[in-house]
Amino acid sequence: SENLRKPFVAGNWKMNGNLALVAEFNQKLADVNASAEVVVCAPSLFLHAFDKDSFSVGTQNVSHLDNGAHTGELSVDMLKEAGCKYAIVGHSERREDQGESSELVALKAKKCVAAGVTPIICVGESLEIREADNVESFVGEQLDALINAMSVEELSKTVIAYEPIWAIGTGKTASPEQAQEVHEFIRGYFFKVDSQLAQGLRIVYGGSVKPDNAKTLFAQNDVDGGLIGGASLKAEDFISICQAA
Ligand code: PGA
Repeated sequence: SENLRKPFVAGNWKMNGNLALVAEFNQKLADVNASAEVVVCAPSLFLHAFDKDSFSVGTQNVSHLDNGAHTGELSVDMLKEAGCKYAIVGHSERREDQGESSELVALKAKKCVAAGVTPIICVGESLEIREADNVESFVGEQLDALINAMSVEELSKTVIAYEPIWAIGTGKTASPEQAQEVHEFIRGYFFKVDSQLAQGLRIVYGGSVKPDNAKTLFAQNDVDGGLIGGASLKAEDFISICQAA
């Protein structure tokens, strides 16, 4: 059947950038002509300064809890108040640095969906897991946590980002074939839950996406766009990646 999924490209600035870069993005992205949905996930303190007319903004994390005594956290209500339509959840750096479990990531994603914020849910394996040929069982377990916690309706309001850890920030981009293989596996996994869900779900690739490799990656059947780290810090590079989707 025909693929009606709208391409999706999100930048993940991580703990980088400043208000000058925000201003540059506001200016340069203002008249970008991309058929993709474009999102910039910058540090939360900068989100107020973005022009949210030509592109959307998101956070890089969110709490699974309601407003209350949780020092240092941001709630989905606050994201909405600040005009954030998206939140990255379960990035491998947070799974690693903050010890976030797949169950916690699922709670965060569920909380986002309930508030009308689209979670960009990251999954992906380490090099060790790939070399041991355990990619599908590992990623499958990460998906199980989502499937166990969320309804089909909720899952349909998410974006999945496949980000092999060995490709993040390393310059070792997954080949288009490697990416497609796992994206197809992920879509197939959701197909067993609900075929319509699987067909409509956007699954984007992350890990050393650059202007010169974006097009072939995004041309793969089950690759619906990208989550861009390093290359999202340069407006020109980010724009050319958006235009490749
Ligand atoms: P990268 O990061 O593009 O710098 O590899 C991707 C990510 O971590 O989302």
